[in-house]
Amino acid sequence: MRHAIAGLLAALIAPFSVQSGGPVEPTARERAVAAAAESLRASLVAQRRDFHMHPELSNREERTSRIVAERLRALGLEVTTGVGKYGVVAVLEGGRPGPIVAVRADMDALPIQETIDVPYKSVVPGVKHACGHDVHTTVELGVAELLVGMRDRIPGTVKFIFQPAEEGPPEGEEGGARLMIKEHALESPHPAAIFGLHVMADLEVGTIGYNSGPAMASSDKFILTIHGKKAHGAFPQGGVDAVVVAAECVSALQTVRSRRTDTMEPLVVTVGSIHGGNRFNIIADEVRLEGTVRTLSESVRADVQRLMRETLTGITSAYGATFDLKFDENAAVTYNEPALVAETVPQMRRTLGDANVLARPPRMVAEDFSYYEQVVPGFFFFLGVGNKAKGITAMVHTAEFDVDEESLVIGVKLMSNVVLDYLERHARE
Ligand SMILES: [Zn+2]
Ligand SMILES: [Zn+2]
Repeated sequence: MRHAIAGLLAALIAPFSVQSGGPVEPTARERAVAAAAESLRASLVAQRRDFHMHPELSNREERTSRIVAERLRALGLEVTTGVGKYGVVAVLEGGRPGPIVAVRADMDALPIQETIDVPYKSVVPGVKHACGHDVHTTVELGVAELLVGMRDRIPGTVKFIFQPAEEGPPEGEEGGARLMIKEHALESPHPAAIFGLHVMADLEVGTIGYNSGPAMASSDKFILTIHGKKAHGAFPQGGVDAVVVAAECVSALQTVRSRRTDTMEPLVVTVGSIHGGNRFNIIADEVRLEGTVRTLSESVRADVQRLMRETLTGITSAYGATFDLKFDENAAVTYNEPALVAETVPQMRRTLGDANVLARPPRMVAEDFSYYEQVVPGFFFFLGVGNKAKGITAMVHTAEFDVDEESLVIGVKLMSNVVLDYLERHARE
């Protein structure tokens, strides 16, 4: 199993993992970007700390969104607010003709109490930027400022997308990438490609990680309800025991992964919660189970839903029970278009150095950037923010999470070069 996966991963990353050459002489544009990013250092740190101190939950990003829109307007950009609730879209027309490219940052925080003692500690009880979206938003604002400064030499158009609710909207609300797309974030103008980045704590600052093809998993929540029939606990023959049926179902669902899916296809079927029954001596008539399904392939994703239904139909009918199964889609597979990755990675290597651009195995966590990638070719990569020497090692979604702020300048420099490189390359076509 481990060897099989290692082989698969090697095949996926092989075309881009070749190390080559020594230091490269920066171009005039790369020198200009590096100098401009460096000049933004103090304002980037201040902006990130401001966002960090004032985190807002998904679909409640009123302040963050307002600051983003104000800053973009101050740069002279054409700004649209209220796209997908607090989403902001801005367009920068370059001075020369060329294609349209989009960059996306997410703005929401998490319901986690911050525990680290830093000068920029969250002032909102129980809410923290624990997924680094403060960094993403700050970096994208920095990219906008930097690119406005070299507008005349930009061949094409850059669309900046600032998205709320990446972590998922509150129960009963719409939100995130899907809602922004529904509210036309990718139309007029329609970009030819989209880029995004995410902080990663286990990558050292100064490095980035990337995947060609699948980068992160699809994520579907499922809610399964088993319906039986109540009876006295001493007379099980008079009822249909939903607890016994549920136990069989939990085991059988694992065979969807182990016995009915190609072993080369990553897949997770997790039952995360199970609740049922109301007393020790009553046969339970209902059990409710919740879980998540994660895959790296849209076809496996569709197959799994069918296989789960087949399995549950067989088991429940064998015991005279019935079931309801509902799926809530959280994210599609984050799929980086291999051609876009291949043409972008050389610029990343030029910006950060060959040894700092790392091909990485995909992960089974999810990201709603995947929805943009279903509409336009996209590339979502990982910005190193960890620093073992400084003790910055906590993972995202923890109370201790923090970033090395050096990553802000690096993120701006990298994303600006990636965007300009794309435009320059495609303007020539
Ligand atoms: Zn997150
Ligand atoms: Zn995140």
